[in-house]
Order: sequence, then C-alpha cells, then structure tokens
Amino acid sequence: MKFSTVGVVGAGQLGRMLALAGYPLGLRCVFLDRGPDAPGAQVARILVGELEDPARLLELAHASDVVTFDWENISSAALAPLEKLVTIRPPRKALEISQDRLREKALFARLKIPVAAHAAVDSKQDLARAAHALGIPGVLKTRRLGYDGKGQFVIREASQIDDAWTAMGGTGLIYEKFQQFSREVSIIGARSAAGKIVYYPLSANTHAGGILHYGIAPFVHPSLERRATRHLKKVMETLSYVGVLTIEFFVVKGRLIANEMAPRVHNSGHWTIDGCVTSQFENHLRAICDLPLGSTRPLGHTAMVNFLGSMPSRERLLGIEGLAFHDYGKEPRPGRKLGHCTIVCATARGRDRALAEALKFVEWT
Ligand code: AMP
Repeated sequence: MKFSTVGVVGAGQLGRMLALAGYPLGLRCVFLDRGPDAPGAQVARILVGELEDPARLLELAHASDVVTFDWENISSAALAPLEKLVTIRPPRKALEISQDRLREKALFARLKIPVAAHAAVDSKQDLARAAHALGIPGVLKTRRLGYDGKGQFVIREASQIDDAWTAMGGTGLIYEKFQQFSREVSIIGARSAAGKIVYYPLSANTHAGGILHYGIAPFVHPSLERRATRHLKKVMETLSYVGVLTIEFFVVKGRLIANEMAPRVHNSGHWTIDGCVTSQFENHLRAICDLPLGSTRPLGHTAMVNFLGSMPSRERLLGIEGLAFHDYGKEPRPGRKLGHCTIVCATARGRDRALAEALKFVEWT
C-alpha cells in the first residue's frame, strides 16, 4: 500500500515534529486540533475543531491515507468510525489500554513485566484499605487522563489520607506503592506491520514534580537494556502494534518496574532527532506508512533538556558546541513544554560537561 498523507489527531509539539520528519520522505501531515495556532499547524495543514468531533474526524480520515495521534487521551470510540475509511495506527486497543493505569498494569502483569504493588480505589474506604495493605508512602493517581504528574497525590504519612481524598476523591483512582527508585529509564521502539522491530538505546530520565526535565542517552547498562527491550517486544507483539511505543520504568534495586506506556512518540525520545541515524518521529512515520524502518544507531552521547514555562536564551545555548535548539512555537505558561535542546558529543564526559553548561541557562518555571 502506498501512503502519502498522514492524518494526525492533535497538533501539539509531537505532531509538529512528526510533520517535520515527514517532509524529506515526501510524506505530508494534516492535523486536527482546536486552534489554528497549534504547534503542528505552524508547519502543516490543520482542520480546526474539537478532537473528538465526529464530522471533523471523518473529514480528517477522508483527507488521509493513514491516521495516527499525537495525544493518547483521544477516545478510541471516537476513532472507531474512521476505521471503515482509513487505517488507524497504532491500533486502538493500545490506546484503550494506555488510557487506564489499571488495565495497563494488568497487561504488564499478564506479560510478567514487574509493576508496583497497586489497588483500585473508588471510595475513601478503598483508599484507607489500600494504604494499609500496601503501605505508606504511596501515590494516589487518577486511572485516566493523568500525564506529566497531573492527577497525582503522594501520601507520605497516614494523616494525609484525608487530604489526598479531598484533593483527588472520587471514583476511578489507583493507589500505588511509592517506588524508591535509583533512576527512571525509558525504552522506545518502532514496529512495522510485518512484525519487524527496532529499538532505541535506553534513556535515563530526570523528572521533577512528575514532569521530565532532562535525560541522557544512550544510558549504557546492557542488562537493563536487554530486559527493557524484552518487555517492549512482548507488549508490541501482544498488541500487534504498528508505530512507536514507549515504556517508562523505575529502576529499583537493579530491577525494572514498569510505570506506564505511551502509544506514541515520547518526550524521552526527542534526543533521537539530532542524536540518531533515524529519529523516533521518522520511524513512527515509516512504520505506519509501511516503509522500511530506519537505523536507531546513536551518533554520539546525548543529553536532552526540556524548556518548561519559559524559553531560555537561544543565543547563549547555541554557543554550546554540539547543541541543537528546538522551539515549538508555543505561548509561555507555567510548566508548559515550550521546546527542548539536544547536545550530541563524542564522549560521555564531553556530554556531561556540555549538559552542565546548558543547565545554567535553562530555568524551569
Ligand atoms: P506518571 O504520570 O505515572 O508518569 O508519573 C510521573 C512521575 O511521577 C514519574 O516519572 C515519577 O517520577 C513519579 N512517580 C509516579 N509514580 C510513582 C511511584 N509509584 N513511586 C515513585 N514515584 C512515582
């Protein structure tokens, strides 16, 4: 099958970077999103409308050879009618599972991928029971629609159970045992419809307040990488996955504990634009358009730093050798992801030095 136009539900920075990766391949993206000034709309055509508007979605399907998404909270049911007209990749099933932390953990557990001890919470009694059974500290999270640490409350002592319930109370929650991790890592891979899989090297990610601040890759740890790759393969094969999939893990006493998966290109893979032979964005397009997958070989030692809340000085950062600058064209707002930079160096030591230098100019607000 020959694909040339990719419909993308959501025109955020991920969609924008997909569109930019598509141009050299002769692939065009067309977006659906709420505002004509969305980051993706600045580089490709956009249909303006609500993401789940049935008429707009059908229009997107008519305009596209394949439909994908840059936002994993789009409802699978809203996409279902499009399937009569166009191929949807990744599969809707992956979307459904990744939208619900409980189903996600059930899938991981079924595939023998370790997860944090957890319990569903639908009442204050459930929460008290879960905290007692699993222990404190723990994290109370919404099962759905949580991202970048939103919809979470860390319970550090029993006296906070009431506060947590007041802040988050309702149905559809999950309580997870707090993981005393030494690191957070993520693995990203792309799978074709024919079942070929390519994997990127492991990335080590530093979050604060639940949001990714910076990461380094490759994070060289062959045994963790082998295990992460095995886990990702199992999930992709079970879901007959097509496209890029990410799994985030906690490293706890040398073990990998799966936190969550994202059925899309991922922030922890932005380094691949400048730091790999083929970026995650290009490989997502290649996978969903039935093109051969590209090499995931790293070009050096990289660091990626997110710009959150405000943009740093472009002049200062571009003065650092080996640094690439990415501005998503968004209005500044506290905590908002506005851009990132990637540093590519020949050595890990050079990368660490350049990262320390770059961090002096970046303020997360
Ligand atoms: P999430 O929205 O689940 O990706 O969580 C965002 C971030 O919050 C993670 O990357 C961790 O830094 C932290 N976090 C989430 N769940 C836990 C947990 N069970 N134990 C410790 N830290 C957590």
